[in-house]
Amino acid sequence: MVAFVVAASLSWPHSAAAQPDRSREIATSGWATQDGGTRGGSNAAASAVFTVNNAAALRSALKAKVGDTGRIIRINGVIDLSEGMPYTSSADMKARARVKVPTKTTIIGIASDAEFREAYLIIKADDVIIRNLTIENPWDPVPVWDPNDGNAGNWNSEFDGITIEGAQNVWVDHVTFTDGRRTDDQNGSENGRPKQHHDGALDIKNGANYVTVSYSAFRLHEKNNLIGASDAASSRDRGKLKVTIHNTLFENIGSRGPRVRFGQVHLYNNYHVGSASHPVYPFAYAHGVGKESKILAEANVYQLDGISSCDKVAVNYGGTVYRDDGSMLNGTSLECSWNRDIGWTPPYRYVPLNAGEVAADVLGKAGAGKL
Ligand code: CA
Ligand code: CA
Repeated sequence: MVAFVVAASLSWPHSAAAQPDRSREIATSGWATQDGGTRGGSNAAASAVFTVNNAAALRSALKAKVGDTGRIIRINGVIDLSEGMPYTSSADMKARARVKVPTKTTIIGIASDAEFREAYLIIKADDVIIRNLTIENPWDPVPVWDPNDGNAGNWNSEFDGITIEGAQNVWVDHVTFTDGRRTDDQNGSENGRPKQHHDGALDIKNGANYVTVSYSAFRLHEKNNLIGASDAASSRDRGKLKVTIHNTLFENIGSRGPRVRFGQVHLYNNYHVGSASHPVYPFAYAHGVGKESKILAEANVYQLDGISSCDKVAVNYGGTVYRDDGSMLNGTSLECSWNRDIGWTPPYRYVPLNAGEVAADVLGKAGAGKL
């Protein structure tokens, strides 16, 4: 009888049995610790803790009335927002794929296989935590042709994996963004240009502020992380868009790791690996230095075939300042010629690793399933 009882207690829950519950943790690094901190659903009532394994359960957890202490949504396995019915138009996708995250919410994968597919997350409300989750970057079924985009026109799509729009205090931790099953080599061409069914992986815009992205991974995607969507948004974005990205992997991506306008953006201990001649996602640049951006880059590591100088690490998109300390490009010190006078220092405590320690740390700890 004793043996039976022990066996029963070990049999549930299977995958989470050996792991501590991390769902009530709060942000401990970067800009998300400022302005009151980022607590998400850490104070949720027991009745506001939901464990979901399908789209319908997720939608009802997002809509549930929980009072002002917030909610925790624990993701069990793969959730396909399309429920097996492919989106037929951008409008259809807009309606069915949306995961609109309410204020004081933590969304956390309970095991290493937690994943959103055919979904896009919108964070417009303050105080949100997203952790331990794979997000397959959304695939717009109907890209739109813009003949005036670039020299030869371009196909553009809607929907980012996550869009943080105007929200304050957001922590994205141990999240993997990837094109997953639908890499860009499957898209074909039209009008002489590759059809692009993807937009961003994680975009932060419209006055969003106090955001930390930690121990996450961006893989197999063209345009990854946009911070500030328009030069014309100065009235909303100037003095905001304070974002920290640290100990994060950028692996076989094209660009925007990140591209920045306006913000005091702190990028440290990130590991960028890829190749300018990658067959699907050729590396174009890491940091886009845009209008009024004030990037502090520290001890990042760039292992990039075909790249030999700072002009592809920190590309000028209309910015005037950029400060790098202690980064390495293909085994040698990164030397940049930017004006280093960014005019700010981080107000929070942090202890960056030396560049020599970054690759092992990030490869060992970053991304979904490594919390
Ligand atoms: Ca706040
Ligand atoms: Ca976008």
